[in-house]
Parts: sequence; structure tokens; C-alpha cells
Amino acid sequence: MKDVAVNNDPESNIEKPAGGFPMQGMMMDYNLFMPRLFNWCKSLGFDPGKIMPSRAFCSDESQGYPIILMTKHFGTFPFNHGRVGGVVATGRHGPHAAHGRDMVIVQASHVGYDPEQKAFGIYRRAHTTHEERSSSCGKIHNVISWYKNEYAFARHNILLHNDNESRIIVIDNQLLREDRDEGLFLRLDRFIDTDADGQHSPTKILSTAKVFKPASSLVQHVGEGSFNGITPKPIGTKLVSDSFYFNRNIPRLGEGAHHIERNMIGYMPQIVTAPSPVLTAAQINTQIEFDRTFRTIVKEQGYKGKKVLFIAGLNIDISPEHNQLFPLTKFVPWAAYVQDRDGFYYTLEQQELVQLLAQQSTDNHDQIDLEQAIQMMTELDEVNIDI
Ligand SMILES: [Zn+2]
Repeated sequence: MKDVAVNNDPESNIEKPAGGFPMQGMMMDYNLFMPRLFNWCKSLGFDPGKIMPSRAFCSDESQGYPIILMTKHFGTFPFNHGRVGGVVATGRHGPHAAHGRDMVIVQASHVGYDPEQKAFGIYRRAHTTHEERSSSCGKIHNVISWYKNEYAFARHNILLHNDNESRIIVIDNQLLREDRDEGLFLRLDRFIDTDADGQHSPTKILSTAKVFKPASSLVQHVGEGSFNGITPKPIGTKLVSDSFYFNRNIPRLGEGAHHIERNMIGYMPQIVTAPSPVLTAAQINTQIEFDRTFRTIVKEQGYKGKKVLFIAGLNIDISPEHNQLFPLTKFVPWAAYVQDRDGFYYTLEQQELVQLLAQQSTDNHDQIDLEQAIQMMTELDEVNIDI
């Protein structure tokens, strides 16, 4: 295994879509989403009873309720197509294809929501000793923590001040070092004007930082008042996402443990500066997973000659109340891919996808009664296994 340095200067990645997507007016409760998805499949000619659904969800137990509803409406437990964080295990397309006539894949990254605090990224764990709140999605939270830390350091160690009436910017030496393998890297042109030789020359050298004359565009962006404090003031939240990028050595392990980090590193400036970093990160992971997975489905031999519906979105897990067994999960659709048996396919963007789902009936006469199905199993004659 070899660590590979990833250069993520945002301006060098022109293929990247805008990160994050609208949620206002787009979300629907899972108990409405699942029958609508099933009825949409039926309207596309999918054969009830011959559809093998699959889910690419995080391993978090909060994802269980959507899986139970999928089971109820599609009449079978869905194939497991997911890795922690909501990464699609594209290597499992073949086995999935072999398990049904027609195929449904639901991908969703997830984010917790605490209705009391009205905050994303946390979830009350009812089964812990004191029903503690913890991060959700925990995987995404862990991945972005290092980046948030680097950003917090930079916010506090770029100082704005004045020296004899002239504005100055003081930048920590570590942030100026360009020979680092890892860390937050400033797009220095956004902060400092170059001199006649094209250099960013300091006006003064301090023990752990250097002093510069700020670029006029920076003064305009942060406002002249930012330089007028009695003591040097950290740049704080005025350190905006397009003024820096991250580099980090991330092991290359296919769709394994570091896949999510590779997905997101180029978007980290946007994630760490977002009002809710875990929410933005989960949305971006969904967007990247849809874009990446759709092509693997098109190319998958096992899916040839089959109807395939692949839909990606965000699961919002609303922390259950004390008397609730499950979270009230909402789905925010992002995009869908539809393939016919003759190989014809198309994709649907968020707006049209939401409209199309909203038009579907929420009645599903094919849904199964899970309690009855379990009861039936207990009443069956025992089958002896010959060894
Ligand atoms: Zn998770």
C-alpha cells in the first residue's frame, strides 16, 4: 500500500460539479418515498415480485428503518450494496444482478438531525446508557475532523492589523511553507500582492510568522474595519473557501476505508466553511457516488438486458423521541438513472426527479405484512438439515 499525495487546488479540477444541493421542498418521508419508488418502478414496466432492490447505505443502525420499509414495499429484503458512509460497492453489481429479474439500487449518504437543537450532524443514541447524542454520519464526521482542525488553525493564525496607519496581514510560517506534504495551503495571491519580481515578499519577519501588505482585493473582501482593531484580529470566518485548498496523503484502497476522503478532499474548503459541515459533506458524497456509480452500471455485463433504476439522495435521520422505536427518516432525492432491457437509458436531475416521485401514488397493494410473514415462518413445519 502506498500513500499518494492528492493535489486539490480547486482551480485545477474543472470537472467538479458544484457541491451540495437544494433541500427546500425536495424531501419526503420514507413511508411516502418507498411506495412512490415502487409505483414508479411498476409504471416503468418492472414486474412486482421479480424486482431485487438493493441499498447502498452506511452501516449505522439508524439506516434500518428505510431498509425495513424497502423490504415491506418491494416484498424482499434488499441486497446490501453499501459501505460505511454510503459508498456504493460497485464490485457487487454482478451478484446483485444475478438475484432478480429487474434491479433497483438506492444510494444514500446520511446525516442526523436533532429537532430540539435544530442541528444537523447529531443523533440521539437511545440505546446508550444515558441516551447520549453522537455524530451522524460518524464516518463522515471522522473524515472531515482533520480538515476542520486545519481550517480552525488557519482562521486563528492569519491576523489583520495596522502598523503606523498602514494595513498589515500576519501569516503563520507553517501556512506559508509550500514544501509540506499535507495541510491547508493558502492561495497566496488572494492575500498578498506580488512585488516587481513576482514574489510575495514580507515587510517584516517575526519569530513564528511573517508580515505582509495585504492585497487590495483582500481589503475589499474583509472590509477596512477588519484592520482597525487595537490588537491584531484573526481573519476568522472571512477565510473563505476559494482562498485555500488541502493536500493530504490518503492511502489508495479502492472503495475501502479511505474512499470517502478521496471523494471529498477537493471539496473540503467548501465543507469546512459550511454552516453544517457534515450535512454538506454527506450531500457531496451522494453527488460523487451517483456520478461515479452510474457509469459502472452502464458498463456492467450483469445488468445487460435488465431494467435498472438507480436513485441517489440523502437520508436525514431525525433523532427518535423517547417513545419511538425508529427515526423519522426523510429522503432528499438528488438524481436517478433509468435503464431499459434494450439498453436505452437516461438520467433524471433533482427537480424532475422530485416532481416525478411526487406524482406517484402512495398506495401500494403489493406491500407485504411483515408481522404476518414472520408469524407464518414460526408456524411452518421444521425442516431437518441432513449432515
Ligand atoms: Zn454513517
